[in-house]
Amino acid sequence: MTGTPAHDASTSARALPKVTVTLDVEDLRPDHSLPERVVEMTNRVLDLFGEHEVRASVYVVGELAERRPELVLRAAAEGHEIGLHSWSHVPIPTRTPQTFSEECRRGRALLQDLSGQEVSGYRAPMMSLVPAAAWAVPLIAEAGFTYSSSVLPGPSPLFGWPGLPRQPFRWLNGPIEFPCPLVRMPGIDLPYLGGTYLRLLPSFVRRHGLRRAGTDEALWAYCHPWEFDPDEAFHPHQHIGMLASRVAWLRRSRMERQVRRMLGDPLTGPLGVVAAELSSEGTDLPVIDPKKPASAGRVARWADGRLRDR
Ligand SMILES: [Zn+2]
Repeated sequence: MTGTPAHDASTSARALPKVTVTLDVEDLRPDHSLPERVVEMTNRVLDLFGEHEVRASVYVVGELAERRPELVLRAAAEGHEIGLHSWSHVPIPTRTPQTFSEECRRGRALLQDLSGQEVSGYRAPMMSLVPAAAWAVPLIAEAGFTYSSSVLPGPSPLFGWPGLPRQPFRWLNGPIEFPCPLVRMPGIDLPYLGGTYLRLLPSFVRRHGLRRAGTDEALWAYCHPWEFDPDEAFHPHQHIGMLASRVAWLRRSRMERQVRRMLGDPLTGPLGVVAAELSSEGTDLPVIDPKKPASAGRVARWADGRLRDR
């Protein structure tokens, strides 16, 4: 190979920090009389991970795991970490503390039975661990989870918790939290490694975000089986509103290509491994009291929750 290092793709790729790949396995059909596509699409994504020899964190909705245990069995057999993506994929603030706690325990026990793994990771639906659901933090730890990746640490038109650190931190009396990575773009912080952004934005935005990431950030990307499915008919997703549902439906035919590009960049192992390393190294993480959220700020007050009811 000739050419200057500046134009050598492999050299520039090596300069990027490593990213954990995660998959949120959920069945968002509003009506179960519609065709079920989650098994086929999850298998397609797991094929893609296998092709690229990726070890991912796979968070599965409890009631889906109960109905389609083969999804958990396959992901676990192929070496992926299994975590819980709530019991029924509704935002945490819509639950009572008691129901939330019971569902966390039930979901974790089921996934442990199916996978044969110690299940240590919890991921809230739609990053819905927000100040109004601060009561959930100790319950996540009491259910046996040692880490969570459930917050968007900035203002969000859906669910966000502005003012939280961008690097991993420990909740007071709770689990380690891996906040969703954000990049500052003019006027807005974007969760640039999230499925919608992988689908809709050019790859240079992802690379721009990765190059600007702090060295103390834990970088993770997330995607969903339905994002790889251009053939599914449009239907509104409950809890995110009509506009966000439209966005979720856009440009799905592009998703596989975009994710393949990402899988060619430097990757690291599942978040459960990162959490265990942080604990065993005794790393001093910031400690955050969920009952004392940082100031939201003007932008956050304007943006917070704007799209949920559209
Ligand atoms: Zn989800």
